[in-house]
Amino acid sequence: MIIDVHYHLLAEEWYPQEWWNTVVKMYAHGLKNYGLEMSPEEIRSSLVPPLWDPEGEALLRDMDAAGVDKTVIVPIDYWLAFGEPGASLDQQLKAYSDFQRKHPDRIIAFATVDARRPDAVKIVERAIKEWGLKGLNLYPQAGFYANDPRTYRVLEKVSEFNVPVRIHTGQQGPPPLRGKYGDPIHLDDVVQDFPNLSIIAGHMAFAWHEQLLYLAGLKYNMSTEFSAWQVVAKANYWKFCQVMRQALDHLGKDRVLFGTDNPFVAPLMSTKEFVDLIKGLPQNAPDGISFTEEEVNAMLGDSAAEILVL
Ligand SMILES: [Zn+2]
Repeated sequence: MIIDVHYHLLAEEWYPQEWWNTVVKMYAHGLKNYGLEMSPEEIRSSLVPPLWDPEGEALLRDMDAAGVDKTVIVPIDYWLAFGEPGASLDQQLKAYSDFQRKHPDRIIAFATVDARRPDAVKIVERAIKEWGLKGLNLYPQAGFYANDPRTYRVLEKVSEFNVPVRIHTGQQGPPPLRGKYGDPIHLDDVVQDFPNLSIIAGHMAFAWHEQLLYLAGLKYNMSTEFSAWQVVAKANYWKFCQVMRQALDHLGKDRVLFGTDNPFVAPLMSTKEFVDLIKGLPQNAPDGISFTEEEVNAMLGDSAAEILVL
């Protein structure tokens, strides 16, 4: 069983133009790091439109190519920071729900909300209770802390349903997003104040992974996913292996989950390449670092199946 716990189903109108301009900027800088120069206009016309896949056809093809059995699609609500898009948040969440209903065996759709929205509780309740979304995705870096009272009222609502909550951790995020909100230390309160809630720390907290791994070690309702670590895997395979080993040593194989953050990261490494890279860890890990097949199977999907209550 292979499960990608972090994928974005995207449509142009679900997000504001300011966001797409930001994506162009991120790609331009990313490409430059790899010695490739493309103008913003070229990126805008050639790299951004392929991200739009509101019917999920490209996603299903990508899953088939990579041998991914199930994908968790996570919506985004950065819009109090970037400006509201043409489509409402409810429209995005409803589209997620519709896509999940069409492919119940393959797609697991999460809800999202900015905890600062006055009707945040209502939005999440409707998405989970009426539309059947199977988890919540929070992006504190839009401007709120995971342990803020406004977040807690949302988490209290989600606690009524037996679904996990993924919370972005890590400094990463373009302006106007603020890295400080992604410090995993704020999850320390959350996992203890909501002991029955399953909390997934997103992106293994990027450069704060040491803090996260030490923090999460003894907080057994906390897991992490390592989406977007393709960047490290590609730039420094030794370091990637070393951090993955550290994650498994702290959290055990049951709480370290595979995710891609595609389609955003796909230009750097396809889903299939990343799946193959993880599958190859037992054979290819550098001297002094080892992985078992059992650990690989757990990370690729067996553990996510437990945490997602499948
Ligand atoms: Zn993402």
